[in-house]
Amino acid sequence: MVVEAGDGTPEKIEEIARLERSQLRPEELGMTLAEAKGLMHDMQQTMVTKQIEEYVAQFETCPHCSTQRTRKGQHPIIYRTLFGKLNLISPRFYDCSCQNQGRHSSSPLAQLLTTHCAPELQYLETKFASLVSYGLSVKLLTEVLPIADEINYTSLHRQLHRIAERIEGELGEEQFQFIEGCPNDWAKQPPPGPPLTVGLDGGYVHASDQKSRTEGWFEVIAGKSVQTEGGAKVFAFVNKYDTKPKRRLYEVLRSQSLQMNQQVVFLSDGGDTVRDMQTYLSPESEHLLDWFHITMRLTVMGQMVKGITAELKPDTKCPETATVLADMEKHLESVKWNLWHGNVLHALQRIDDLDDDLEMLEENPANKKKLLKAVKEFRSYIEGNQVFIPNFGDRYRHGDTITTAFVESTVNYVVSKRFVKNQQMRWTKRGAHLLLQTRVQVLNDDLRGTFCRWFPGMKSEEQTALKDVA
Ligand SMILES: [Zn+2]
Repeated sequence: MVVEAGDGTPEKIEEIARLERSQLRPEELGMTLAEAKGLMHDMQQTMVTKQIEEYVAQFETCPHCSTQRTRKGQHPIIYRTLFGKLNLISPRFYDCSCQNQGRHSSSPLAQLLTTHCAPELQYLETKFASLVSYGLSVKLLTEVLPIADEINYTSLHRQLHRIAERIEGELGEEQFQFIEGCPNDWAKQPPPGPPLTVGLDGGYVHASDQKSRTEGWFEVIAGKSVQTEGGAKVFAFVNKYDTKPKRRLYEVLRSQSLQMNQQVVFLSDGGDTVRDMQTYLSPESEHLLDWFHITMRLTVMGQMVKGITAELKPDTKCPETATVLADMEKHLESVKWNLWHGNVLHALQRIDDLDDDLEMLEENPANKKKLLKAVKEFRSYIEGNQVFIPNFGDRYRHGDTITTAFVESTVNYVVSKRFVKNQQMRWTKRGAHLLLQTRVQVLNDDLRGTFCRWFPGMKSEEQTALKDVA
């Protein structure tokens, strides 16, 4: 390694490694991972030593009168990097008497290295722990980098929380409404882009404080905002834990350059939380119950009817039962047809018919009570959400979005893949919420950009790629 100083002092040459080969075998062509790790590690030590020497040297004399500053001792700093842990010495200097008469002192190196971990290592740790489990991240990073025994489950976990808290700290305050300006201002805005479609849905995560196997889940809301042309962004939070859900969603829309005169279509399954958070974000917003959740409930009821039919096997001996069951199928079909056309009133009547059908059924099949409960719940679901039920058929013919099925997969993509698949894992609300924040940054390809903003010397992936081409 050749170290060239800018001030004309002679260059210094240091030997870093020596790689030896004899008879060529495929596995010895080029460097092995172990050699590369050793090389990186030793090069890092040498390079950092020189950088620190030069940096500290600037503070040894007073910049105003060139007097040597007096040292007031030193203390060790352990600094973790991609290529190994460094044991640095941070000297403390008294201020020069020409500047400060008191006995004030400072440690320039400690002030420079406020976090004892290199930004790029923080980035990689956060990125992988957001994608796969903490344990697997440790295995992966220690396998490819010379940092064996320097990271573990606990340090990674803590690191990710620190980054997530910094991200959270940048999120503005919650507001009741985010609509800016007045209709006059909106009219003056340039023509907006095509509508944004936002889908919201919930998923469940195992709580760490659960009392039994069946208890102790908490809800996570995940959503996706899709631009008609191009990009989509995901967001997520722990329901009833997050204090700024509306601000969170607003910032996603803003990052997609939402204009106040732009149309936003919100699709959800109609829970209070999602309904509340999507109001007062845009004057041009439309709130719809999504077709996917409606059909899901109808399908479940349809299966119950089929189950009852299979159980009772009505034949010519009990024509009344056969008629009732046939009516139920017919009424279910009609409920679906009416809802598809936005005819809520008729749909509600057909749901009441279903209720009556069940009352008329003299037999007591296994699922009768369950189906009765499902029908009643469905009725209040449709009644409670009737203002959000559009003419789906019309929208469909015009090519407008009618379903958040794309969000159902978002819940899987954002939440389940990291939180639910490993059934052993239990989460605190805080832990889950923080991990969700770094995870959406990774999934949205925003994490690197966030780090580049915090540490301007860090190159974005694009810049790095361009340099490689050049
Ligand atoms: Zn001085």
